[in-house]
Amino acid sequence: MQKAANYVGRYAPSPTGDLHLGNVQTALLAWLHARLHGGVFLLRMEDLDTPRTVAGSDAAILDDLAWFGLDWDGEVVYQSQRTDLYQQGLDLLTQQGLTYPCYCSRKDIQSAASAPHGKTGVYPGTCRHLNSEQQAAKAQHKSPAIRVRVNAELAKTCGDFVIRRADGLFAYQLAVVVDDLAQGITDVVRGADLADSTDRQLYLASLLAPQSKPIKYHHAPLVMDASGQRMAKRDGSYSLQSARVNGQTPESLIGDLLHALGLMPTKQPISAREVLTKHTLDQLESVLN
Ligand code: GLU
Repeated sequence: MQKAANYVGRYAPSPTGDLHLGNVQTALLAWLHARLHGGVFLLRMEDLDTPRTVAGSDAAILDDLAWFGLDWDGEVVYQSQRTDLYQQGLDLLTQQGLTYPCYCSRKDIQSAASAPHGKTGVYPGTCRHLNSEQQAAKAQHKSPAIRVRVNAELAKTCGDFVIRRADGLFAYQLAVVVDDLAQGITDVVRGADLADSTDRQLYLASLLAPQSKPIKYHHAPLVMDASGQRMAKRDGSYSLQSARVNGQTPESLIGDLLHALGLMPTKQPISAREVLTKHTLDQLESVLN
């Protein structure tokens, strides 16, 4: 019988364009964290948001990661092939009476937030108490998003949040939690831009799998571009593809990234495998939050 892994990590890129240096830094740190734990490292393509998915981007990402010196265990999982699982997750929440349809437009939510007692970014709960007649009347004009009712803590920071979008696509928050649970993920290492999703994800996981041990989340610093802005995939100038075309090596890129993180005193070329032999988990964790 196979022994259950004590550590299961993952990297979960969205195939919406070429990886930039910030994305590969996160991939490198997630990979190092898993490998330094002697753990399993999975790769998941988050291609659920079909309007944003770029054809061929998944293959380019896999090629970039392999070129960078990272490896992963088992087959790459594609979210677009797992919608049944997300539906099951949604059903489970609905059976607990925790979901409701929301007919609000972005504009409705903004104007509620600008009312005297509104708070920006917090869903004001407009559709929370609609009765079935009111819902049916609204459904004539608009297909609803589905929201999950939150606890008191989250009510202060984000309010009831969307788990299925009005266009019928499952929302990132739900899909990511369903997958992390289904894949037995123990530790998530991802970019600091996702840190504010963590509480929502812990909450969903506590509803979907109350017996499971909570996932540990670690957040990697963001890499800024020359003007101090967070890198974006649409700005191809920092893509790994363009670094490759310009003749950079994975070793020089990794050396630069580790130096900027304060993990190497000088900019020395180093391969991902060598980092494993030269760095400790404590050093790595010192740059994660
Ligand atoms: N797919 C997300 C992204 O590329 C990452 C999701 C996660 O790590 O939780 O930004």
